[in-house]
Amino acid sequence: MAAAAASSLKVGIVGFGTFGQFLAKTMIKQGHTIRATSRTDHSHLCHQLGVSFFGDTLSFLEADNDVILLSTSILSLSEVLRSMPLHCLKRRTLFVDVLSVKEHPRNLLLQVLPEAMDVLCTHPMFGPESGKNGWKDLPFVYEKVRVRDEPRCSRFLQIFESEGCRMVEMSCEEHDKLAARSQFLSHAIGRILSEMGIESTSMNTKSFETLVKLKESTNNDSFDLFSGLFIHNRFAQQELMNLEHSFEMVKQRLRRGTSEEQNLSKV
Ligand code: NAP
Repeated sequence: MAAAAASSLKVGIVGFGTFGQFLAKTMIKQGHTIRATSRTDHSHLCHQLGVSFFGDTLSFLEADNDVILLSTSILSLSEVLRSMPLHCLKRRTLFVDVLSVKEHPRNLLLQVLPEAMDVLCTHPMFGPESGKNGWKDLPFVYEKVRVRDEPRCSRFLQIFESEGCRMVEMSCEEHDKLAARSQFLSHAIGRILSEMGIESTSMNTKSFETLVKLKESTNNDSFDLFSGLFIHNRFAQQELMNLEHSFEMVKQRLRRGTSEEQNLSKV
């Protein structure tokens, strides 16, 4: 217990929605002190979890946090950060974001934060569904963008290491390139399947079950998250064009096959 207390952190979470709450539960279990502020009044839930909820950002910033963890939607981060009285911060704090895109928060944080603040950009590549049975072997991507207080940053990373996450250090640019081709693509296909209204049938193949699961998991995430993956990842536009182009190629091959078949049957 003494070791846990020595390394425990005071973490202030900005944006106490689905993902902020999900992270807070594990941090509380590990013995960290959690504070939260959010657009919506989450004070009742916070009270149940043992989290201090701050309705106004000034008292939140004055609450002596070691770490301020940003878990707002991708689309609202700029507005949220710019509305905070950041000049009121009394101590050098580590700012961490968990957004599913990385270049956008990195650029924004470097632009709006006082120089004295450290910056760690992260993307836990899991959520309440995939991480519901623990975080073991799930990837945690991060870049130490501006870290001078190494021990404090290590204590924060330890939250994920100690749960067994696979720690992947990578630049924000590399993350966005890879995520556009993996995460954005799977969300886009999940949304297309949802638009088509696919449903489970009494004769599902394994592959079709995979598609139904993809549709369901995509729809569990907010549309804001999907829009953010597109609007704030400069590599996503190209992947959307690749998807359209590949769809056209597949259609052309199918049509070629159909007309060859028709010509053969005429012979
Ligand atoms: P989300 O829809 O991306 O974000 C919801 C959060 O954003 C809530 O806390 C909400 O505040 C806040 N918010 C939305 N619009 C706002 C506005 N106009 N002004 C102020 N606050 C606003 O859903 P999420 O799943 O909780 O994700 C949070 C962040 O974690 C996102 O950046 C996402 O990319 C990242 N992330 C999510 C997952 C996941 O599996 N869900 C995994 C990894 C990373 P209120 O609660 O106060 O309404």
